[in-house]
Amino acid sequence: MAGSLSSEARDAVRKEARAFLARHKILLPPFPVDLALKAQQLRLAEVSLEEALRRIGADGPELDKIDAMLDVTAKSVALREDLHRHGKKWGCVHEVAHSVLPWHADLLYYCPIILLPARVQRQMELEADAFTSDCLFLGSRFTEEAKAVPVGIRPIIQLADAYGASITSALRRYVEENPDPCCLLVWKCPEGPEADENATLSLHYFVRSPSSGLTFRIGQTVGKDHVVAQAYLELRDTATAAIQHELSNGRTTYTAETFFNSYSLFTLLWSPRPAPS
Ligand SMILES: [Zn+2]
Repeated sequence: MAGSLSSEARDAVRKEARAFLARHKILLPPFPVDLALKAQQLRLAEVSLEEALRRIGADGPELDKIDAMLDVTAKSVALREDLHRHGKKWGCVHEVAHSVLPWHADLLYYCPIILLPARVQRQMELEADAFTSDCLFLGSRFTEEAKAVPVGIRPIIQLADAYGASITSALRRYVEENPDPCCLLVWKCPEGPEADENATLSLHYFVRSPSSGLTFRIGQTVGKDHVVAQAYLELRDTATAAIQHELSNGRTTYTAETFFNSYSLFTLLWSPRPAPS
C-alpha cells in the first residue's frame, strides 16, 4: 500500500491547506500554481534539479525518487528536467507545501531535507504530498463533485481534466477521500515482445478508502487467465479505454473497472451500495 499518515498528521495538513486556499481565495479549479508560488515568494530555479543536486554534491540512488527541491535561502524550486506537465505542477505545489507547513519551513531553514534522517524525510514528503492533493483538489470540492457522478473511472477522468490533474492523482484522491469502501490497484505492465505471449501483470501499489478492509500484496502477479490480465489484453489495442468486470477476493465479489491509457493500467474496485430498505 502507498504510505499513509496518522489521522492527527493528516488533519493538521488538511487544516493548513484549507487555510491556504481561503487566504488566497482559491475557490475554483484549476488550482493556480503560479499564484501559489508567488504567494510564498518562490520562483522556479534557473537550473534543473539534476544540476542543483550536482552543485551541492548530492548523489545516490535515493535521489532518483525526488522530482523537485526547494532552496529555502534562494527561495527557488528546482524541477527534474524530464517531468511531464502534471509532474511539474505536483512538484511545484509540493515545494510550496514545504514552505507553508510551519513545522517544515522552520526545520528546512536549518537543514536541507536530503540531510534529515530517512524517517523524518518520509513523514515530511507524505505531508507535503497530502497538502498538494488538498490544494489541487480544492479541499473537499473535488470529493463533493465526485459523489454526484456515477461510480467509475471515466467520470473521474473528466473531473481530473477540469482540475488540471493527472488521472493517477485524481483516482487516488477519489479513493482516499471516499466514505464508501473502495480501492485502486495500479499495475506494472509487461513490456516488449514477451508481453503478447505472457501478459503477467504485477501489482505496483494500491490505495484504499479508510473504510475499506481490502489488502493486497505488493508485487503479487496475475497470469494471463486472470480477469484483469484479460481486460488488459483487450484494452491494449484501444488508445484510452475502460472495461467493467467483477473481481473476487474469495469471499466477496466487487464491481471492478480496469482502465488503460497506453502507459498505465489501473483497476478501481468498489462494492455496490446496498439498496435502501
Ligand atoms: Zn519534498
